[in-house]
Amino acid sequence: MLLRMSTLFVRTLREDPAEAEVPSHKLLVRAGFIRRAAPGGYTFLPLGVLVREKIATIVREEMAAIGAQEVSFPSLLPREPYEATHRWTEYGNDIFRLKDRRNADYLLGPTHEELFTLLVKDLYSSYKDFPVILYQVGTKFRDEARPRAGLLRGREFVMKDSYSFDLSDDGLRASYAAHRDAYVKIFDRLGLKYTVVSAMAGAMGGSASEEFLAHAAAGEDTFVGCTACDYAANVEAVTTPAPPATDPSSRPALEVHDTPDTPTIESLVDLANARRLGNRDDWTAADTLKNVVLKITTPGSTEPEVLIVGVPGNREVDMKRLEASLAPAVPSMFEAEDFAKNPDLVRGYIGPQGSDDRASLSKLGFRYVVDPRVVTGTAWLTGANIPGKHATNVVVGRDFVPDGTIEAAEVRAGDACPACTGGTLTTRRGIEVGHIFQLGRRYADAFGLDALGPDSKPIRITMGSYGIGVTRLIATIAEQYADERGLVWPEAVAPAAVHVIAAGKGAQVDAALQIASELSARGVSVLVDDRPGVSAGVKFTDAELLGMPKAVVVGRRLADGFVEVRTRATGESVDVPVADIVAHLT
Ligand code: ATP
Ligand code: MG
Repeated sequence: MLLRMSTLFVRTLREDPAEAEVPSHKLLVRAGFIRRAAPGGYTFLPLGVLVREKIATIVREEMAAIGAQEVSFPSLLPREPYEATHRWTEYGNDIFRLKDRRNADYLLGPTHEELFTLLVKDLYSSYKDFPVILYQVGTKFRDEARPRAGLLRGREFVMKDSYSFDLSDDGLRASYAAHRDAYVKIFDRLGLKYTVVSAMAGAMGGSASEEFLAHAAAGEDTFVGCTACDYAANVEAVTTPAPPATDPSSRPALEVHDTPDTPTIESLVDLANARRLGNRDDWTAADTLKNVVLKITTPGSTEPEVLIVGVPGNREVDMKRLEASLAPAVPSMFEAEDFAKNPDLVRGYIGPQGSDDRASLSKLGFRYVVDPRVVTGTAWLTGANIPGKHATNVVVGRDFVPDGTIEAAEVRAGDACPACTGGTLTTRRGIEVGHIFQLGRRYADAFGLDALGPDSKPIRITMGSYGIGVTRLIATIAEQYADERGLVWPEAVAPAAVHVIAAGKGAQVDAALQIASELSARGVSVLVDDRPGVSAGVKFTDAELLGMPKAVVVGRRLADGFVEVRTRATGESVDVPVADIVAHLT
């Protein structure tokens, strides 16, 4: 392949695009790989298409290696299959819905479990047909609440999604393991630095779902590792080890105190110490119980429900952990007008307990759930449900009984590891580039996908689903491979392996084109900068911005029979005789 800068459809920019926040977005636009076409929608220019297809090819090769077969579904899908699995409703605002001229409902596919299940049911019926793995590489649509960072979170993006169909749980485990191995190969070939993390809370069954998180400061996911064992999990999946419960009746009695002007935890702790509440002056935020009021909306219902979450006051509620715990219900902030409608909730002074003239939150009909650290027998400093008053010795199991526990408090570096004793957690940011998931029989049940067994009895099929964000990977690689001068593509995905620069006129251009066509004839992909009237300096700057792994500079030393070979990643440069250049690069 030979591309010529003189005709290539590309314009490089010196300035960062105004809307771009992360390095990959800035660089991919500046280097002419993508252009924004719509909120969360990007046009791929020729260089962008080349990278995207190289990634897709690597994905296809490794899928083929595990025996997966490629199919291709439309994006415009009818409502009915998604109705059968309740996802038409559960997706809420996250999918694009539309109507055809007959007023029938459609959606733009966010992921295709339903369609794959129906396709297999349509064509396969005997146990002899299974197992089977099918996949596609196609465009997905999601009406993301926060499209951001260019290709990292689009509303229209390319995903490889595959689905495994097995007769038994062991079969599913084998299909899952095959995918896991294939994903490791794919991400290794792409040169990514990543960690495989557990995506599902341990309580729900170990490795039934894992994510591949590429290390990047711009990532939206936070994941933890352990200092002592090999535990690694998305913070959304971290379970909080609960301390042992103790006898609530052994605690001193609840006391109510005047605590004027203490709407925040900090002001409360200061006052508690200054006034020696409960005869102590060692109060910290960790002794307080913070009650965060939220509205949650279950898809399909119109009226939001009030949910109050009790967490130790030294921790924030992590919205992503909260959302993951509540999904498909969606939380939102409780506003001043919501407090106005609920006079039982005394803003800034809420406590879960009841008192002589007032029922507890639960008895008042509010759902009250707590962090797992808030166990039976623990005593807390919390609101007294009276403006300007708090209570000490509010004891779980005596003064209130929560309606359940929730994983919503932030996870912090230094927290105890849930998988071992003695280990503590470290945290890091990452970009989710792949997700593998043992679905089980949910979709097979919804559509009655069975195979007739050797004894003519039906066997319910069990499934897995496995995604890779192809377009997200372009940006992820750009996050990991870039410097202040531009992109630094790994060879496996670079639009061209070699960038030949004619750093002069006449003879240098002729020699550059000659070298480029010889390399191309030998199977090396080449981009040659043969632009007339463009200075060598501009060509060098552009070459560094575009980021091909090697550059061949055909300049002044051509007269002595030499060209210069530069390695983009290391900045190294060597002079090579023109006669040897093709051999040097092949
Ligand atoms: P996220 O938590 O980032 O929203 P997800 O859990 O919704 O991801 P999946 O439904 O598992 O993602 O989709 C499979 C893969 O598709 C993801 O691992 C990711 O690489 C990619 N992907 C998902 N949403 C987007 C998006 N909005 N833009 C680009 N790629 C995406
Ligand atoms: Mg998502």
